[in-house]
Amino acid sequence: MKINSIKKYLLPYSILANRQTTINHAFANGLARTGIYEERDVKHALKLLGQVPSKILCVYCGKKADTWDHLHALVLKGEYGGFGNVLGNLVPACKKCNGAKGNKEWRKFVNGLPIADESKQKITHQLEQYVEYYKISPCNFSNNAISANLKNLDRIKKDIFSLMQEADEEILKIKKVLE
Ligand SMILES: [Zn+2]
Repeated sequence: MKINSIKKYLLPYSILANRQTTINHAFANGLARTGIYEERDVKHALKLLGQVPSKILCVYCGKKADTWDHLHALVLKGEYGGFGNVLGNLVPACKKCNGAKGNKEWRKFVNGLPIADESKQKITHQLEQYVEYYKISPCNFSNNAISANLKNLDRIKKDIFSLMQEADEEILKIKKVLE
């Protein structure tokens, strides 16, 4: 740990600024297509990635995996991605690579890795095969039948943000008196 890691604890905290992304992701996770956990299906997915369940590795750097990364992000440029939380979109990744990839397009992320071109091609090929096997077609959020619901959902999210902002303002008033 570095000495300056204490910095963010010492700074004033804004509920809205610190939690907006979390809320956005919660909504995206809520809407995301999901699957059913079947061990044999996950084993098969790992096999397609050239891996075994006893040693699950990050598809990007080969180190021990500790998360599942979404090849296609749940939120892309403020819009819901539509690929969801399913095999064919989820791949094992280490925290570092998952964080570094963020919402980047997976091919672009792999191309930007600090590794030999040959390794990049190998990873890309493996992931392409994986994606090809599941052939996920993204949910169509522009379907007219759900447009009113999506609009409502968006309004609810905005209400949450505005309540968070209201809370921030109240906190400021309280602190002004207490400090
Ligand atoms: Zn990694």
